[in-house]
Amino acid sequence: MADPSPLENVPLAGYSTFRCGGPARYFAEPSTGDEIASLFRWAEERGISVFVLGNGSNCLISDEGFDGLVIRIARNMSGLSSEEAEDGRIRITAGAGLPFARFGNYCTELSLTGAEFACGIPGSCGGAVFMNAGAYGGETKDFISRVSYWDGDAVRYIDGDECEFGYRTSLFERLNGKGKNVVILGFEALLSIGNRDEIEALVDDLRKRRTASQPLDVPSAGSTFKRPEGYFAARLIEEAGLKGFALDDSGAQVSPKHAGFIVNNGGSAKASDVMRLIDYVVEKVYENSGVRLEREVRLVGNFGG
Ligand SMILES: Cc1cc2nc3c(=O)[nH]c(=O)nc-3n(C[C@H](O)[C@H](O)[C@H](O)COP(=O)(O)OP(=O)(O)OC[C@H]3O[C@@H](n4cnc5c(N)ncnc54)[C@H](O)[C@@H]3O)c2cc1C
Repeated sequence: MADPSPLENVPLAGYSTFRCGGPARYFAEPSTGDEIASLFRWAEERGISVFVLGNGSNCLISDEGFDGLVIRIARNMSGLSSEEAEDGRIRITAGAGLPFARFGNYCTELSLTGAEFACGIPGSCGGAVFMNAGAYGGETKDFISRVSYWDGDAVRYIDGDECEFGYRTSLFERLNGKGKNVVILGFEALLSIGNRDEIEALVDDLRKRRTASQPLDVPSAGSTFKRPEGYFAARLIEEAGLKGFALDDSGAQVSPKHAGFIVNNGGSAKASDVMRLIDYVVEKVYENSGVRLEREVRLVGNFGG
């Protein structure tokens, strides 16, 4: 197999919706499972660690960047097709690099119900599976029937109900946590035909609710924290008096519009500024409520400690 020749020293800030962070020492956007396998082999031969990036909408990338190989799963792996399944539902096949919102819009175009919430989520289909992304009562797990992934040795296929989906987590996150490099390649979803007008109305309603409540015009990674059981992170942050709070004029701020979002105003904050504010919010909320918030945003690279 040909040497994959990743690019060197590629700035990552533009690949993260937080719009901050340093470069990747090596960077590649593969198109196939074979290319992914050869990239991993290339990295292994050189003792280089690997990070798999989707659309970077749930990641905070260190100012030092990532001292390894970033494999970005994006437009090169963004196939999308549909067919009728044996039970009359419609099976959608989506590549991991396809924007999840595009998948949602495609379902709307086909009058399929159940994926309306996906239209407002700015990640990739692979990231949505990895995180079990969800909103307004819907979750990715609701319609996933099969996932294809590269498990470090070979391409595997797994049924949706074997993916161990939980709140913003999946089997794939746990495998990665165990040091296994897993790359989601795509998924199959099964959805039923619904009423097109009702589907469009719901998509429109969710979009309006999002626009009214979330700071979509400012860089962020969405909800910074997971929802603690029995509480809402945003409410706890507000009750600690931190809505709109900033430690300094770096640009890192608790959004004045939605306290659950830490934003990078003007795109001027460094990742370290965002991280300091995250740590501060965790401490203050703990002091105020006794609840320790857990980050939903994933850290890429070195943040010290
Ligand atoms: C404005 C805004 C609103 C948001 N609203 C929501 C919301 O309503 N609900 C919600 O759940 N999330 C929301 N998010 C967060 C984010 O969009 C989701 O978590 C999304 O699923 C992340 O997908 P991604 O492709 O950007 O993943 P990334 O941020 O690139 O990666 C996230 C994690 O997934 C892993 N990963 C990504 N792709 C793959 C792959 N192909 N194979 C293996 N691992 C992979 C990465 O290694 C990383 O650990 C929002 C974010 C923003 C900026």
